[in-house]
Amino acid sequence: MRWTRSLIPTLREDPADAEAVSHKLMVRAGLVRQLAAGIYVYLPLGQRVMDKINAIVREEMNRIGGQEVTLPVLHPAEIWQQSGRWQTIGDEMFRLKDRNARDMCLGMTHEEVVAWIASKGLRSYRELPQIWYQIQTKERDEARPRSGVLRTREFLMKDSYTLDLDEAGLAKAYDAHKEAYCRIFDRCGLRYYVVESDPGMMGGSGSHEFMASSAAGEDEVALCDRCGYAANVELARGVPPLPKFPAWILEEVPTPNVRTIPEVAALLAIEPALTIKSLLYVAKTGPLLVLVRGDQVLQEKKLARLAGEVRPGHPDEVRAELGAPVGSVGPVGVRLPIIADESLREGVYVVGANKDGYHLKGVRPGQDFSPRFADLHVAQSGEGCGQCGGAPLKVERVIEVGNIFKLGTQYSVPLGAVVLDESGRERPIVMGSYGIGPARIAAACVEQRHDADGIIWPWSVAPLHVHLLAVNAKDPEQAKVAEELDQELAAGGFEVLFDDRDERPGVKFKDADLIGLPIRVTVGTGFVKTGLVEVRSRKDRAERRVARRDVVASVKELARELMGA
Ligand code: ATP
Ligand code: MG
Repeated sequence: MRWTRSLIPTLREDPADAEAVSHKLMVRAGLVRQLAAGIYVYLPLGQRVMDKINAIVREEMNRIGGQEVTLPVLHPAEIWQQSGRWQTIGDEMFRLKDRNARDMCLGMTHEEVVAWIASKGLRSYRELPQIWYQIQTKERDEARPRSGVLRTREFLMKDSYTLDLDEAGLAKAYDAHKEAYCRIFDRCGLRYYVVESDPGMMGGSGSHEFMASSAAGEDEVALCDRCGYAANVELARGVPPLPKFPAWILEEVPTPNVRTIPEVAALLAIEPALTIKSLLYVAKTGPLLVLVRGDQVLQEKKLARLAGEVRPGHPDEVRAELGAPVGSVGPVGVRLPIIADESLREGVYVVGANKDGYHLKGVRPGQDFSPRFADLHVAQSGEGCGQCGGAPLKVERVIEVGNIFKLGTQYSVPLGAVVLDESGRERPIVMGSYGIGPARIAAACVEQRHDADGIIWPWSVAPLHVHLLAVNAKDPEQAKVAEELDQELAAGGFEVLFDDRDERPGVKFKDADLIGLPIRVTVGTGFVKTGLVEVRSRKDRAERRVARRDVVASVKELARELMGA
């Protein structure tokens, strides 16, 4: 690939709105451009990275018996109405009407289409199991498209679907995917965790996420070094250390003009862990009071798993239900259902008195009021691991690069995807659904592998392998050798970006570092005198000067080292 014949618009400056390193570097290295919020163009180098990732994904999906298909982006509303998601999914779905005023939508995922195909195409248990996959564009009107290609409104997804007769079959298909995913992310050179996750809108009975460590991520995982527990903080269980409880007896204390937990704690000169935060929530079944310790934060997803869809109560609802303003409410004497975090099983606390300007001190949960206890708080670094009890949890920011779900029959039942079993009985097909975001893999690679000067691509997904340049393109001798090396390296099986521009050497070196191909080969002024060419790795910048005739051999040797790294 010759630079002067290519579209590689590198930039010196970061894009104005960019925060994530991958966003800055992928734009600056000329991989991608933003057309509109969350809508990206993949330029030639970016496309090459995606092609490499997709090739790895295809190989690993084929290895576990996946059959590649292409499912439409444009969907009739009917299949989504049948599954119920036409109603339950909100603004994230792009909806439109065709010329005959029929409702349509753009596919944000393909469970419905898969179940529809199965309903038409499969008859007997003998045709199971099946694995279908595609690498297809998804359209989602994300609320906050951000961080470059990490969260876009149009993006490529590898989605696969498994169809089995029973749960045991699903378990097998699920495990095969888990292993295939690990191979994919290993081969892409990512550092990642496999964590338990919340099935969320997909529903179903089990799910895992594949999380690449990166400060640019929107997710957090809690990890235990001792037992290997790893879970999304949306469901991670942590056991906070208990405070030292004072020998309080129950009494009402005046707390004038005090609204927040820090204010209560300051006024009474106690630590916030000795207070309880009482929050009014409204579920489908009505209002309920939710309690977490004063130093902790409620994880709404955990609450939603217990109580269904919930929303925080408005201040006027709080006053109507509890007879006091938001900062003074508490659980004692309340008739609403109460759910309290596990960590409140023991001890004495300060709570709101349901009386403006007063709190109750010395309240014992389980004695002075009777809640249902459940894990509700956001696990934090340093809390005891909820699985092994001992070691402190570590909370880390991550990018979700893939996930796997055991769906069960929730799509096959409404869409009529059934087969006849051995005894001739109709059985709904048991499904699994599995996603990977190739763009997130690319961005996570950049997040994990870069330095101040640019990207450091792992061999497997680098847009090309070798960055070749002549320091002075106008020098006939340098130019000639560079031309020859371009041919020879290509013949040796390497993908070469030949920077044949008549630019200052500094500009070319900067671009080489920014784009970050694994190996740089430089024909310099030194060559004319010494006959030596410079071969160096982007990763450690170790330089070798080799004779002209040894360049390909030297690149081969370095490539072998880098492929293993
Ligand atoms: P998130 O929680 O980050 O929104 P999700 O749970 O909605 O992700 P899925 O619907 O399961 O994701 O999609 C499967 C994979 O597709 C994700 O693991 C991710 O790699 C990728 N992906 C999802 N949404 C986007 C997006 N808006 N932009 C780029 N990639 C995405
Ligand atoms: Mg999403």
